[in-house]
Amino acid sequence: MNEQGITSTVARFAVQTSYNDLPGSVIEKVKQIVLDSIGCALGGYVVDRSRIALELIEELSGNPQATIIGSGNVGSSCALYVSEKRLAICRECPSYVESTSMCKECGCIMKIKAMLPCSECPLKKWGKE
Ligand code: SF4
Repeated sequence: MNEQGITSTVARFAVQTSYNDLPGSVIEKVKQIVLDSIGCALGGYVVDRSRIALELIEELSGNPQATIIGSGNVGSSCALYVSEKRLAICRECPSYVESTSMCKECGCIMKIKAMLPCSECPLKKWGKE
């Protein structure tokens, strides 16, 4: 590993890699993943948890930078980034239940709690932004 760290290394690789460098199997897999993600976003848009999350994004406001699939509304990418950063920590935690997105320590649904700016991990693995 060089002194610039993994993020710089991965970013440089991504910038320097062209479409023609990618094997056909990788291109096909990425197409499947993108289609699956869009399908999940559209299908999940109508469930109650998504509605609560959308209301939170609207309430958090901030600089409108990210278009939300399904509604076409534009929310703060900062709020979405913070939420994803926290969820990444939860997904590595033994107290996280992936199937329900629930934390065994606090009993909260993390896909919602992680979006709240004032929320904190009960084990102090992440905190207020
Ligand atoms: S909130 Fe904290 S304790 Fe709960 S799942 Fe996330 S990282 Fe683990």
